[in-house]
Amino acid sequence: MSNYDVGIHGRVIYTGIEKCPVCGKDTLHVIEILYSDPAFGDLILYSNQCDHCGYKRIDIQYLNSRGGPSRIMYEVKDDTDVYRTYIFRSKTARISSPELGFDIDPGPDAEAMITTVEGLLLRMIDVAERMEVLNEDNEESIRRLREFKYKVQRRFRVSLGLG
Ligand SMILES: [Zn+2]
Repeated sequence: MSNYDVGIHGRVIYTGIEKCPVCGKDTLHVIEILYSDPAFGDLILYSNQCDHCGYKRIDIQYLNSRGGPSRIMYEVKDDTDVYRTYIFRSKTARISSPELGFDIDPGPDAEAMITTVEGLLLRMIDVAERMEVLNEDNEESIRRLREFKYKVQRRFRVSLGLG
């Protein structure tokens, strides 16, 4: 695991093979990476992956949170920000975009998530499309979902390859 690419800010602090909570075999790769981010402080990324059954779980712990919830604001200015900015979201965090008008609240069984801004937007478009199908009788919902997709696509049409 010494060739695990963790980027410039990451440092592997633990790797090991443990018992998988799903299939019970000793084939669970555990990696803990300490990230020291100049803007957001230190966080530990826990990554579990089972070779046998494919079980996967990622968790994130912020080390210098000030004893309560905190808010991190980030403004996406251009395409480079969309491609290059990673979102580390712990399993209890909410993601909001006032500009695009969405909130993602963690569900009871939510997982931590690591994605780029681009990945998040593509996922939101995907969700909006599925919700459109589910709400096909509700004109108001359809209108709002289409408006949302239009806003995302217009704002990020170049970087998302949507023409
Ligand atoms: Zn397993």
